[in-house]
Amino acid sequence: MVRATCDRLGAMTPDTLPLIPHWIGGAPMGIGEDRLEVVDPATGQPVAVLRLADAQVVDNAVASASGAAALWRDSSLAQRSQMLFAFRELLSAHRDELAVLITAEHGKALDDAAGEVQRGLEVVEYACGIPTTLAGSSSDGVSRGVDVRSLRRPLGVVAVISPFNFPFMVPMWFAPIAVACGNAVILKPSEKDPSVSVRVAELWQQAGLPDGVFTVLQGDGDAVIALLDHPDVAAVSFVGSTPVAKHVYTRASANGKRVQALGGAKNHMVVLPDADLDAAADAAVSAAFGSAGQRCMAISVVVAVEPVADDLLARIAERTRALKVGTGTRGPDLGPVITAGQRQRVIDHVDRAEQAGAKVVTDGRVVEPDGDAGGYWVGPTVLDQVRTDMDVYTDEVFGPVLCVVRASTFDEALALVNRNRYGNGAAVFTRNGTAARRFELEVEAGMVGVNVPIPVPAAHFSFGGWKDSLFGDLHAYGADGVRFFTRGKVVTSRWPEPTPGVDLAFPRG
Ligand code: NAD
Repeated sequence: MVRATCDRLGAMTPDTLPLIPHWIGGAPMGIGEDRLEVVDPATGQPVAVLRLADAQVVDNAVASASGAAALWRDSSLAQRSQMLFAFRELLSAHRDELAVLITAEHGKALDDAAGEVQRGLEVVEYACGIPTTLAGSSSDGVSRGVDVRSLRRPLGVVAVISPFNFPFMVPMWFAPIAVACGNAVILKPSEKDPSVSVRVAELWQQAGLPDGVFTVLQGDGDAVIALLDHPDVAAVSFVGSTPVAKHVYTRASANGKRVQALGGAKNHMVVLPDADLDAAADAAVSAAFGSAGQRCMAISVVVAVEPVADDLLARIAERTRALKVGTGTRGPDLGPVITAGQRQRVIDHVDRAEQAGAKVVTDGRVVEPDGDAGGYWVGPTVLDQVRTDMDVYTDEVFGPVLCVVRASTFDEALALVNRNRYGNGAAVFTRNGTAARRFELEVEAGMVGVNVPIPVPAAHFSFGGWKDSLFGDLHAYGADGVRFFTRGKVVTSRWPEPTPGVDLAFPRG
């Protein structure tokens, strides 16, 4: 347990909050000058404290990871695969404990946290197949006596910087594949819910991963900047909000690193008049309010194509009114939002939308949670008559707010989705195969759902958006993940019988 690690460290702070350590060189470390409290959003009370990594701590961690990477890259594929299978089994055995750790600091409902663990675990399962997925290709005799083979080599030390909303799953999108490819990983988790990362580090060690191959640095933006500027960090996988993603992409690329920076989202769900409206309403409510709307794949806009908007809205409203808000361990439908500031930001968006003419169909600004009065509660809110010039539509609100926008035709709905600056996920609900196929091909988003509201790709495909939802070329995990964490090389070889003489002409076959 992380708490056990804290005890080993003897690292209780003066105010008796447990210290969540860094994990460097295979051991917990409580170093760094500045401290930050970790708050349970269901109570508003601090539950732990961390020490923020500064440039010196980052430098120590990179030195440790560099040494480990130099050895790990020569490990056999069989060794890596066996270690990953062991890691998979440990994660599976500890899945309930991991879910509890997630809920304690993130606040999401416990069964939602269990789902997060499962989705992360599936990427580990994909990584177990690394002997196959890393296989190159070869051609014999491309010229007389000349053979060519391609191979992929690890990059060295890679940084993974993750957001608060999936403290387990997002790191698992990258770390297992990076490690399987022979790299050392430095994870900088969100400072808002960092405990689960340390527990994962303990499990990696238990699975047999050599010390230093997986490092956790606790910290904020300063630690990120130190990683982006460090000459011995070869690549950066970032997930977070769009302004930070853009900054990370620009700075790390300018420093010559390979970068993939996944940003924010505004995911639309288009409902055509021929759709099964009950199924569409179920899907919209589940996808909008799960995890209190704090998912990068949450549906935040329903585009209702007339004449079904009123009918659909009534079904959405009925389902939304039945949702329970409360502490994640008490079986609610949705928990709190992550901070007091975020709660206020969500409410401000709803206030401004109402003032600008949106109709508040269900109002989450006033809520009776099954939980502590100090928690950061917002109830599920449905807004009708939303226009595309309102900031509740243009901004990523990242809370339990569902906007309903009306369109007269499928063409109008599709054009509206494509004008949005984000392009993470998009879904269409219809019984019409022709319309669905056109949506699949023409919608400008990286992940498309047909009668599926949250089309997160399975682990052997890859996850990523378009436009302001992703900066970089390659998506997360799957084949793109293997490409991102390796560099290609092509070897052309000839083993001729020694023949004297020099020939300056191109080979002629
Ligand atoms: P965030 O951008 O505030 O933070 C993400 C990470 O960046 C954290 O580790 C944080 O410490 C660090 N960071 C924050 N400010 C920084 C700065 N100025 N310079 C360098 N690093 C900085 O995001 P968040 O609030 O933790 O997470 C929510 C956001 O993440 C939402 O926008 C959501 O859509 C997005 N997200 C996207 C995906 C995706 O796949 N596209 C997945 C999950 C979350």
